[in-house]
Amino acid sequence: MCFRPAAVTLNKCYKCGKINKPIATVCVECGAPLKPGHEPCPQCETMKEPLAVCPNCGYVPEVECPKCHTKNPVTNEQCTKCGFKATKMPPPPGQSAGNFPPKVPPAPPKVPPVPPKKPGT
Ligand SMILES: [Zn+2]
Ligand SMILES: [Zn+2]
Ligand SMILES: [Zn+2]
Repeated sequence: MCFRPAAVTLNKCYKCGKINKPIATVCVECGAPLKPGHEPCPQCETMKEPLAVCPNCGYVPEVECPKCHTKNPVTNEQCTKCGFKATKMPPPPGQSAGNFPPKVPPAPPKVPPVPPKKPGT
């Protein structure tokens, strides 16, 4: 498998548009927090996943029905207009949720075998 989506490492600031280093956690330009796959809540600016209900203010994002293009809250199990079941809509292209490199688990500490000290003769 050699399919890799391109341009997922660009860490673009949602506030000022500055392209930051992929490892940057805050924008070097304006200091806004950077989280890959996250965007600020339109109501309270809490960083969250685009399709997640805001844990801070309870804002419910809307998703467009792929069938009739009606905007429905993500908490809806189906489209209010056409009844299309949209429980698991794929994220829109360009938003690579979960595409950032996984955290490397810390290596277990290597304990060198300590030879027991022989008591003096
Ligand atoms: Zn910025
Ligand atoms: Zn919010
Ligand atoms: Zn619909």
